[in-house]
Amino acid sequence: MNINPADFRDIDPGERILMGPGPSNVPSRVLQALSAPCIGHLDPYFLSAMDETQKLLRYLFQTENPLTIPISGTGSAGMEASFVNIVEPGDEVAVCVNGVFGTRMSDIVNRIGGRLIKIEGEWGRAIDPEDVRRAVKEHDPEVIAIVHAETSTGARQPLEDISGIAKEKGALFLVDMVTSLGGMEVTVDRTGIDVAYSGTQKCISCPPGLAPITFSKKAMDKIEKRKTPCVSWYLDLSMIKSYWGDERKYHHTAPVNMIFALREALRIIAEEGLESRFKRHMKIHRALVAGIEAMGLSMYVPEAERLPMLNAVTIPDGVDDLFVRKGLLEKYGIEIGGGLGPLGGKIWRVGLMGHSCTSRNVLLFLSALEDVLRSAGFKPAGGALESASEVMAEK
Ligand SMILES: *Cc1c(COP(=O)(O)O)cnc(C)c1O
Repeated sequence: MNINPADFRDIDPGERILMGPGPSNVPSRVLQALSAPCIGHLDPYFLSAMDETQKLLRYLFQTENPLTIPISGTGSAGMEASFVNIVEPGDEVAVCVNGVFGTRMSDIVNRIGGRLIKIEGEWGRAIDPEDVRRAVKEHDPEVIAIVHAETSTGARQPLEDISGIAKEKGALFLVDMVTSLGGMEVTVDRTGIDVAYSGTQKCISCPPGLAPITFSKKAMDKIEKRKTPCVSWYLDLSMIKSYWGDERKYHHTAPVNMIFALREALRIIAEEGLESRFKRHMKIHRALVAGIEAMGLSMYVPEAERLPMLNAVTIPDGVDDLFVRKGLLEKYGIEIGGGLGPLGGKIWRVGLMGHSCTSRNVLLFLSALEDVLRSAGFKPAGGALESASEVMAEK
């Protein structure tokens, strides 16, 4: 087969304002780190970059866990690595499901031969700890799993009570932190979380491609006591840990430049400081909500259960979902997300993640949305920008 190289143009996607469910905009410092020379994955320079990345990840997860590393793969690889290492065929695993990502967890548990105890909740709401208590009463789950920030609905999950239930049951507590990490408080050690995983492209604002994970000593003990080998060779932490630990034993070639990029993104987070970063996410979120409500639209999730970094806006009756999203993208370069599954056509998902979480983006988005809504035949009430600005001006 012949091809003409001239048919293939330079990559030049143009600028986008990423206000969807991820990826978020990537700071230029991170893109620069990505374009550093590629060096060997056992080069002493790279080994020290790996050590620093682990230190920065422990800070972000708020943990002392030695096994805190980025898995090579996106957030879903972190999810799969978490389950596949601590679940053996026949183990009972309780999974809370109130959105797409809890559903994905259940799918993984089924595929690897775990016995699934499914705890279902309404999409757009947090899971009630009492439902968990009831569901695990007659069972003996080895693991209780839940999503901290359900990106498909915008619901925030409190973790303390469910962590307590896991402790009472002697189960490992596994938490999806793909969207929460870097955008809201995450305290792995203090909350008693045994296994957590995340992704780089949400509130960490690094391109997609790595999945930070952290495993407690109790979780590592479970891995050591396995009777069957981990069904995934690539994600087997008993081998991967020897590469990230002192032995530096080759397992697979680390994505060198992605790790440089992650290290830089984490350095930016440390410079801002966790507390200021979380405050920024909360304030910009409140400004967005004030603008949305002033416009006459409403939020899908009740106030007490809302995530700061993923805002589900109810699509008003008679307004065409795709027309609006297409208008925002084509006219303003703004990407937002649509609803998934049962929420398809019912909500817009507006992300305020990491580097994308700015007052500039909120003001631009609100005026762009007003404009596009008008062309969609919906007349927004006035005052959105004023209401948002008032929140931003608060001390
Ligand atoms: C995005 C996301 C994932 C999956 O991550 P990918 O990087 O798309 O593989 C898992 N869980 C949650 C909560 C997410 O938001």
